[in-house]
Formats: sequence, structure tokens, C-alpha cells
Amino acid sequence: MNAETAPAPETPEPTAAPAIDPMTIDFGFLRKIEAESGVKVSACFQCGKCSNGCPVSFAMDWHPYQVVRFVHLGARDKLVNSKTIWVCASCQTCLTRCPNEIDIPRLMDFLKETVCAGEGSVAEKNTALFHQQFLKSVKAHGRVFEGGLMQGYLLRSGAAFKPKEAIANAKLGLKMLQKRRLKPFPHNIKGKKEVKALFKKAK
Ligand code: SF4
Ligand code: SF4
Repeated sequence: MNAETAPAPETPEPTAAPAIDPMTIDFGFLRKIEAESGVKVSACFQCGKCSNGCPVSFAMDWHPYQVVRFVHLGARDKLVNSKTIWVCASCQTCLTRCPNEIDIPRLMDFLKETVCAGEGSVAEKNTALFHQQFLKSVKAHGRVFEGGLMQGYLLRSGAAFKPKEAIANAKLGLKMLQKRRLKPFPHNIKGKKEVKALFKKAK
């Protein structure tokens, strides 16, 4: 089903009314976001279609349409301390459904970068850690090496030191190795140097 054939959206279930402390409002926030991320947030008319299609909105503290509204209102503090930006799976469903083509996944990425640059706090620490390990793996091999990614993640998140979790993960890893769904050693791509250069440029 695409955005054209999808049924008309219902208004999303309202979450608790977001109270915004007037003393924390950043009046230049909307302009800054649009200029630096390139996302035309001001085009949103709050139809809610994005949130109705989001597969992980149940785990978010704010729906995607509310994230956009917070940008309109300059409620930067709400966003840089929110779970939603880390829970977003970048699946692009909201962008496909939005009648104004507002790139919410890009907005979420921009907000994550803002947090990583030192504003607010990471509300989903393990998700942020997973992102870091993923990028580290891509930088090292030009592609992700799943075995190394999981090792790094389990060690750094502490899951490797919890006996029950460690045994369950070891069993799963072994099963995946047997079924050849996991490679025991990393495989570097030909363009590894170019990928490294891209990381350097992005930095
Ligand atoms: S971002 Fe798009 S889909 Fe979501 S509420 Fe705004 S206009 Fe509607
Ligand atoms: S990109 Fe993020 S916000 Fe948009 S639908 Fe997917 S998970 Fe939800």
C-alpha cells in the first residue's frame, strides 16, 4: 500500500498534553533546523498521517507529528531529551505518507546529531551505543561486520556480563554461525579507503 492508496488517517491518539516551559523556548529553533537540516518543517499542517503509519510510535514519548510541532514552537529542550529521536528506525514510512513530503527521518537524525554535539541528554543510551558500534564497523571494513558489531555492543552495554543474557546471546550467535547468517571474520570491501574518506569529510 502506498501513500496514494492508503486509507484516510484517523487523528492519532493524543498523548499527555505537552507542557512547554515558556522560559525554555528557542525562538530561532525553527529557522535553524530548516537552514541546517534542509527539512521544510514549516510546511506541516498537523494532519497526523505520519504518526498513523509509524511502526514504532508505541515506544515513543512523542509522536512524529508532535516532534514537528515542537520544532514549530521552539521547544528544543523537549526534543533533545526525548526518547523518540532514538527510537525512530529511519524506515521512511512517515516521509512516504506525508502530503507535504516532510523528511521526518532526516529531522530525527539532525536532532540526534544535536544531542551528540552536546545539547540535551541521550534518552536511549543503548540505542545510541548501537549506532556508534555500527558506524565504527562500517568505518573499519567499508561495510558492517555483524559479529564484531554485536561483540562490541554486548561488551560495552554490559549485556555480556549478565549470565542469562550472555548465554542466550551466545546460543543465538552459534545458531546464526551454523546457518551461515553470521560470518566469523570481517570482510573488507574494495572501496574501504573511499568509505574512510567519507567519514573524514563528514567529520
Ligand atoms: S509531517 Fe506531514 S504527515 Fe505529519 S502531520 Fe505534518 S503534514 Fe501531516
Ligand atoms: S522514519 Fe521514524 S518516525 Fe518515520 S515512520 Fe519510520 S520509525 Fe516512524
